[in-house]
Amino acid sequence: MTVKHILNEQLLMGYAAGILPEAFDLVVASHLSLSDESRAMLGGYEAIGGAVMEDSDAVEMGADALASVMGRIKSEGTVQSKPAIKHAKPGILPEPLQDYVGGDVDKIKWRPLGGGVKQAILRTSGKAQARLLFIPAGAAVPDHGHRGTELTLVLQGAFSDEVDTFARGDIEIANEDLNHQPIASEDADCICLAATDAPLRFNSLIPRLLQPIFRI
Ligand code: ZN
Repeated sequence: MTVKHILNEQLLMGYAAGILPEAFDLVVASHLSLSDESRAMLGGYEAIGGAVMEDSDAVEMGADALASVMGRIKSEGTVQSKPAIKHAKPGILPEPLQDYVGGDVDKIKWRPLGGGVKQAILRTSGKAQARLLFIPAGAAVPDHGHRGTELTLVLQGAFSDEVDTFARGDIEIANEDLNHQPIASEDADCICLAATDAPLRFNSLIPRLLQPIFRI
């Protein structure tokens, strides 16, 4: 699947190195299962990482140790420290996300946020938070800024904001510089996976008052 808005280098390298918070890892893994281009880029980073590891093994432990590690890799198959990136099963949610939800969209436990918008907070460890968002066709999320990084991956439908239009597989990377109001396209309800490492900065009063309750 070809998608228009893909990950940046920093996030891919962070993912390959295993230093992202779990919520961001989940967005990246879900995006990777939808984007051939991002998967190809990740393959490049992992190859570089692997080559560096092999070199340092050879220097620190000598040829025997390296041979035994290589033998173990051969017998055990691929050594994988991250959740395996698989192609999405037929369904709306990519496979890494299905593991968190316990199935596809029919298993999501939505909570209303007002105006038909719903969310489901996913259980992740670390400072960043992951949530699924449901935005009815044509509806808007209150306009807001960001105190940190917000990653938004579209899973169904599309939304438009001040930056562009984002459809299935697209990822929007927002930070302190961006103020936006995502609006779902008219033709379908939009479902997104969003991760933030700091609370959003809502510009109007009501969302700001509700913020602690909704943990957004
Ligand atoms: Zn945002």
